[in-house]
Amino acid sequence: MTKEQIYAEAVEVLRTRRRNAQQEQEQRTDRIRQEIPETAELDRQLRAVCGSILSAIGRPDNKERLKQIEQHTKAADAMLRNLLTAKGYPADYLDVHYTCQRCDDTGFVGGRPCVCLKQEIGRISAEQFNVRSQLVLCSFADFSLDYYRDLPPEQFHAMEQNLAVCKAYAESFSPERSGSLLMSGNTGLGKTHLSLAIANALLQRGVHVIYDSIGSLLHILEQEHFGRGDSDSDTLSTVLDCDLLILDDFGTEFRTSFSRSMIYTILNSRMNAGKPMIVNTNLTLGEIREEYGDRVVSRLISASQMLAFYGRDIRIQKSLRRSAGQGG
Ligand SMILES: [Zn+2]
Repeated sequence: MTKEQIYAEAVEVLRTRRRNAQQEQEQRTDRIRQEIPETAELDRQLRAVCGSILSAIGRPDNKERLKQIEQHTKAADAMLRNLLTAKGYPADYLDVHYTCQRCDDTGFVGGRPCVCLKQEIGRISAEQFNVRSQLVLCSFADFSLDYYRDLPPEQFHAMEQNLAVCKAYAESFSPERSGSLLMSGNTGLGKTHLSLAIANALLQRGVHVIYDSIGSLLHILEQEHFGRGDSDSDTLSTVLDCDLLILDDFGTEFRTSFSRSMIYTILNSRMNAGKPMIVNTNLTLGEIREEYGDRVVSRLISASQMLAFYGRDIRIQKSLRRSAGQGG
């Protein structure tokens, strides 16, 4: 999708939201007119009064008359609210309930894009990106600690803690206040599973999460940078702006100067902006330091909670269990 298409879709989402809010209000009004006939009568009287005030002067800009209309309207409004509350409805039951109070779901405040429009653009951009990276979602419920039971007790406990930390991270996530996580350990120990479980929980709450392996992301960025990719998409902005960036498979294989500078740009920009990340790596801290230099690593470490993963490759364990099951 091009930037223009994403923008157009975001505007359309808000338009639908606004239309729905208005339709729901009309449905509530119809219902209340039947249930509390006095409201219909009140409305009829108000219209008659306003009509006569206007026709008496023929000039709607007459200040005194307009003031009278305003007074009548206010009085009628107060009576309507009383009728509603007397019947057990909220006083604002017949107001239009827009999702965004700032712009009444128009997407604009004083000619400028409202926060809700920007959020919608971010959501669609993230969604598009994740479709491209074929995000497969996992959940906390299917993360089994059984695979770690034969570990030494302190390592099993660490894995229990990792699960608890990730669950709590997802539950209390805030784009402004959450810190970053750095998950380290060999492949196949559940780092990807837990970070995708976090992604899943947050995407369901409308948080803009971008998940990708660093290799695949760098490939896309390189294509775009050298004009070989979708020229209208702006993956770097999406990656820098999203609420949570999850970088999987952070390793040593990125030796081109483009890869290096891109990694620095992403990590530094997000840390400067105080935006959270989850970085998964099978490198030790020493190896990351050696590979990427002290400065960026020290910053990443100081900004992150470290989770060490232990165990034996779960994919191997699973396939062993499957073949054992088949055999007996
Ligand atoms: Zn808004």
